[in-house]
Amino acid sequence: MLRRIVVPLAAIAMLAGGATVAEAAPGQSDNLARTATATASYTSSWESVAAVNDGIDPATSNDTVNRRWGTWPNTGEQWVLLTWSAAQTLKAADVYFFDDNGGVRTPGSWRLQSWNGSSYVDVAGATGYPTAANQYNAVNFTAVSTTRLRLVLQSGAASVGVLELRAYATAIGQSSGNWNPPAGLVTPLNQVWQHVEQTYPNLYGFRNYGWDQVFANRGSINYCVRWDSSAPVSAALRDQIHASLARQFKKWMDVMAGHNGWPYQNVPLKVVGWAVRDRATLQWSDNSVDVYVNNIRENAPQCSEPCGRFFNVSGNYPNCPGGASHHYDMSLWLTAGMNGGAGGDWGQRVGSEYFVGAVNNDNIHILLHEIGHSFGLDDFYDWTPTGVGGFLMKAGSATSITEFDAWMLRDWWRHLKSRYGY
Ligand SMILES: [Zn+2]
Repeated sequence: MLRRIVVPLAAIAMLAGGATVAEAAPGQSDNLARTATATASYTSSWESVAAVNDGIDPATSNDTVNRRWGTWPNTGEQWVLLTWSAAQTLKAADVYFFDDNGGVRTPGSWRLQSWNGSSYVDVAGATGYPTAANQYNAVNFTAVSTTRLRLVLQSGAASVGVLELRAYATAIGQSSGNWNPPAGLVTPLNQVWQHVEQTYPNLYGFRNYGWDQVFANRGSINYCVRWDSSAPVSAALRDQIHASLARQFKKWMDVMAGHNGWPYQNVPLKVVGWAVRDRATLQWSDNSVDVYVNNIRENAPQCSEPCGRFFNVSGNYPNCPGGASHHYDMSLWLTAGMNGGAGGDWGQRVGSEYFVGAVNNDNIHILLHEIGHSFGLDDFYDWTPTGVGGFLMKAGSATSITEFDAWMLRDWWRHLKSRYGY
């Protein structure tokens, strides 16, 4: 199972020291918003903007007991602003939206801005802006020192409102920030990391791991399929392939959910395109994915390079037809007649017959192994860490993600997370 991460020979950037992390999810006791003054773009006469930082955790988004902030009947862009008398260092916030199933609904989108002394600027490095009802919606961002934090809402189905807005100096994690593997795995995990550091001198300088891709998208991943086969693909098979790929990718991401400050409960996967030699091989006429015909690279169909993360590691896609939303982070390269697989920052390659034959399987183990490589995990052809038996990344010794595989993935996060501000 060839590991083929293409590592540019750049200077080695070693990270100094360990990052300090929040030991637990912050709550009202850490909430800096309590000492701020709240104002808003507009407030309905029967509502109160002071609701947003009064320290009352709502029971539901349709709170009929406590005071609320809402903008009915106004829609479009609305904002609520926290102002402090002295600068605060802010690194995270969470929002409980007001939604009465009528004139006030969860927003279509939102973002946070800080005041830089002359204007409002979007906070950097935001991990995502979820819009769920009946819960706090958390975002971590690059630490900023400011006297004002502005929550900018774009209305969706109706006017908008907020029941509580909290702001913190530390990142919000889903659980303890401690690295706490089972005792028997500590030694083999440290052996693995030492081996990785010795084998890949540019380990900390490389910027296109799956980790970098997920963060660049604020918690999602896009794929393009390279169909290097003359076998026809119906719309139904296409959809099965998409669903199957998403299920396999999710198995790795589920390992991270709630672990050591990892900010994403889910990492949605979207297939945005297919590449093929002959358009007639793809037996659908809808335009649900981009189709690239006869763009041959490496003797195989290739999706548009201006849309590919591998070719645009900066994360900008100025020449991608359709724009950045049509970009792909990884390729699922399916090759007729291929045995085994390969994986790296560019994606994964497995046999097309193998993948289609396993499309409904719970574990497509070669693909799982190759996705592991895309997140940096190594092969174990010539050595085995102390005290561990079969595991997925030791090819041929397991057919699903084992506890050791899971902890190796988490160990990559432990060592890389500081680059994302965690
Ligand atoms: Zn391998």
